[in-house]
Amino acid sequence: MSEAREVVIIGSGPAGYTAALYTARANLKPLMIEGMQPGGQLTITSDVENFPGYPDGVLGPKMMEDLRRQAERFGTEIKIGMVTEVDFSKRPFRIKTEFDEFFAKSVIVSTGASARLLGLDIEKQLMASGGGVSACATCDGAFFPDKELVIVGGGDSAMEEATFLTRYAKKVTLLHRRDVFRASQIMLDRAKSNPKIEFRVPSVVDDILVGDDKRIRAIVIRNPETDATEEFACEGLFVAIGHTPNSSIFKGKLDMDASGYVQVHDGTFTSVEGVFAAGDVADKKYRQAVTAAGMGCMAAIDAERWLESQE
Ligand code: NAP
Repeated sequence: MSEAREVVIIGSGPAGYTAALYTARANLKPLMIEGMQPGGQLTITSDVENFPGYPDGVLGPKMMEDLRRQAERFGTEIKIGMVTEVDFSKRPFRIKTEFDEFFAKSVIVSTGASARLLGLDIEKQLMASGGGVSACATCDGAFFPDKELVIVGGGDSAMEEATFLTRYAKKVTLLHRRDVFRASQIMLDRAKSNPKIEFRVPSVVDDILVGDDKRIRAIVIRNPETDATEEFACEGLFVAIGHTPNSSIFKGKLDMDASGYVQVHDGTFTSVEGVFAAGDVADKKYRQAVTAAGMGCMAAIDAERWLESQE
């Protein structure tokens, strides 16, 4: 058995990199296993204007690169790879990747969440290039002043984000695949009474059409009851159809809520002593880069103090 590390951090992104930075500076020589999408969700966005310290904004991939370098500067060891299996039933904990096996006295889980997307061909490409598709109205709404926008979804997120977008947009059209909504009545009523929001239900988005400027110019909307399609001009498409926490490898090993978010208490403690969780995998409420980074810092401090208490 290889020697147990003080801390293994599973997953990169604002939470993981910040946990790495803090545990590295605490001399715990952290090992980070980066995961399938090094840097996490911010690597598929363009400008980030709401992370404190960047008065002119920063590209998401650049910010993740900076966080990674900062974590490495203090000695974080970063391994490429996906964790395929964990054993948290005894200590040291065992973490398997497709290439290696590691042992750890403590673990920080920061595997993030993935925004559900519509699954259309150029959706991801337009998200990454700033071409007018986004899965985060709070992050990107301000880039669309006085524009015609579409938002897809029928839950609380869609209602909240549609309402938020009206601060900037000329008009927001909300599309939902059914005429029954998951959203709470109060959020639905608020969106419905907003004069800038128009509901078109039931509707599904069949295609995204791009202009010469490589930005979205229209979408193809289909009525799923009649199958009638129509081209609908818009300058921005917001997808608000939920998030999935990246927690499947921890199923049955860490307590989770019904949606799969890892449950934490007293900061970042999970149901297994010595295992901590930070960022979107444990936070369905805020889901911001800055809150994830803050939670990463909390997890590092929790892990450090817990390790001290074990000596
Ligand atoms: P959600 O409640 O799961 O709603 C997702 C919506 O997206 C549903 O209307 C669903 O349609 C639709 N959808 C899912 N997959 C789709 C697809 N492939 N194509 C088209 N539409 C699709 O997710 P959420 O709105 O993000 O909310 C998640 C949780 O956070 C909820 O518990 C919510 O109450 C909570 N939340 C609370 C607040 C607040 O209180 N301020 C704000 C935001 C979120 P169907 O209904 O047809 O399945």
